[in-house]
Amino acid sequence: MRAQRVRAAAYRMRHHVLDMGEAQGQGYVGQALGAADMLATVYVDQLRFRPDNPGWEGRDRFLLSTGHYAIGLYAALAEAGIIDTAELQSYGSDGSRLPMSGMASYTPGMEISGGSLGHGLTIAVGMALGLRYQGSPARVINFLSDGELDEGSTWEAAMGAAHHGLGNLIGMVDINALQADGPTAGVLRTEPVPDKWAACGWQVQRVDGNDVDALLAAFDAVGPDRPSVILCDTRIGRGVPLLETREKAHFMRIDADEWQVCREQLTAGYQEGALL
Ligand SMILES: [Mg+2]
Repeated sequence: MRAQRVRAAAYRMRHHVLDMGEAQGQGYVGQALGAADMLATVYVDQLRFRPDNPGWEGRDRFLLSTGHYAIGLYAALAEAGIIDTAELQSYGSDGSRLPMSGMASYTPGMEISGGSLGHGLTIAVGMALGLRYQGSPARVINFLSDGELDEGSTWEAAMGAAHHGLGNLIGMVDINALQADGPTAGVLRTEPVPDKWAACGWQVQRVDGNDVDALLAAFDAVGPDRPSVILCDTRIGRGVPLLETREKAHFMRIDADEWQVCREQLTAGYQEGALL
């Protein structure tokens, strides 16, 4: 039941992403499709929040480090009932509360302005520490990308989190093997990624980030005594074969006549059970 709910949400979110991308003619669609199962798992199954009061003090905090993934987060916020689905059509246009790169001051439910990459985990550590001092049971979940593992600040934060024993902090790394400058393995070799987090003192799990059952099991296995990271191997464009099989690019070009094909492929795949 849990997995079904998450999968259905991820499917709707992918549709939202395609609709937003088409409205603007662009967007980081490939990443948002790839990360939809991670975001759906978090918003449908994990986070405690109040849709009518996104700033509720007792909420779990979800920090999107990668501001350019905002299109994916907006889809999740709509699914969570924090923003109206109708508002998604304004994505990226002048005066919209949904800019192309995430801005905390614009969008209800967006905790940080991501986009200067490598800073999300540092903020998450501060928040988790602060919440613990306040005696709050709230958790902090930080979504970061494999490209952000090139940043020294990420590892300073990782060591700090373990030093302070932040059991209220969970990291999710979207390992899609690509970053702005090219394939991650060619820009700066970060593998073996699990060993590095373990050496910093974190609980480490690695899963197929497009397998909802695996994501749920990973969250269920998170322990309370130290920070935990879930390394998620994902596929760019997941759910839309036209995009999954296209040459991978950080910014994917999609022609005007392809959006409808993408939607049809997504729906067909979901109905046939191609999405785990
Ligand atoms: Mg990446």
